[in-house]
Amino acid sequence: MMETKIIKVDRDNPEAGIFEEAAKILREGGLVAFPTETVYGLGANGLDAAACKKIYEAKGRPSDNPLILTIGDISGLYPIVKCVTENAKKIIDAFWPGPITLVLPKADCVPLEVTGGLDTVAVRFPSNIIARELIKEAGIPVAAPSANSSGKPSPTRASHVEFDLSGKIDMIIDGGPADWGLESTILDVSGDKPVLLRPGAVTKEMIEEVVGEIDVDPAVYSKPSADIVPKAPGMKYKHYSPAAKVILVSGSRENVIKTINEKTAEDEAKGLKVGIMATTQTKDSYVSGSVLVVGDREKPETIGANLFKILRKFDFIGTDVVYSEVFDEDGEGAAIMNRLNKAAGFNYIRC
Ligand code: AMP
Ligand code: MG
Repeated sequence: MMETKIIKVDRDNPEAGIFEEAAKILREGGLVAFPTETVYGLGANGLDAAACKKIYEAKGRPSDNPLILTIGDISGLYPIVKCVTENAKKIIDAFWPGPITLVLPKADCVPLEVTGGLDTVAVRFPSNIIARELIKEAGIPVAAPSANSSGKPSPTRASHVEFDLSGKIDMIIDGGPADWGLESTILDVSGDKPVLLRPGAVTKEMIEEVVGEIDVDPAVYSKPSADIVPKAPGMKYKHYSPAAKVILVSGSRENVIKTINEKTAEDEAKGLKVGIMATTQTKDSYVSGSVLVVGDREKPETIGANLFKILRKFDFIGTDVVYSEVFDEDGEGAAIMNRLNKAAGFNYIRC
């Protein structure tokens, strides 16, 4: 075990020189977790295979699940890709810096250990000031997957990172809660027609306004098969899940509430500890179980921002089973339901 140093940074006004030590750790092959506008990332020198190997070890992540390289400035893109396609240029103009990752043909300097053996590389230019200043100061592309134990809900607060990775990484930069709370959109723009690999804050509709019709990888909506070559996170591996069994309950509001109340009573009679993921609109309709409010149906961004925190909380209070309401899949709802489906292993009660 190593000692994990934690530093607090005011993201609206980072002190001069505050990132020097963290940048040095990154350049020298160490691991630093830092906030981004999506979730907390676990950073390592993205051109150093040995440093990236430490990411896989700290997270317990399978080595064929590729990493995203983050850049602090648009100029950081050109050395790590073979070419920037026309579609990539349009997306970059419209959405960078911001919560969308682009998959492009990789340059030779990017180690295959980083890309899970693929000849493409995933690149993101985050908008979070702490992330950008840190990466710029480090002067290297920074590999930064989510800073959680592999398979667990992604971290949206420094305390989540500390819980999962304390003693396994060199430093955590605490810059407050992540704004968006779900991982970046991933768009493969390496071929002729863009393919959405993971839905996120930049929605399919927003992308199609810029580049026209895109394809969506089938694994975004359905349970993947075991022998799939992973292209986006969660396609092959169980993802985002708490220790409890998560069951999604869909149907009319009245039926969902009735079903969850019945199931909760049955499970509690068997001695199980039941969690219920509710919304501001429904929380008072549940008669038993540990009811946690994930957000307000009228403000879907609150659900995205709280989802992983609430899934972690169910672990913390020690539930055996969690019943969750489901949400509209339009716009940003696509990202929310994608994560929730994976957390539940596509386990539904339809009523
Ligand atoms: P995360 O799971 O949040 O750490 O994000 C990293 C994810 O980006 C990986 O799981 C990949 O699925 C995706 N990714 C990274 N590199 C590539 C690539 N070359 N092609 C397709 N997806 C990629
Ligand atoms: Mg992840």
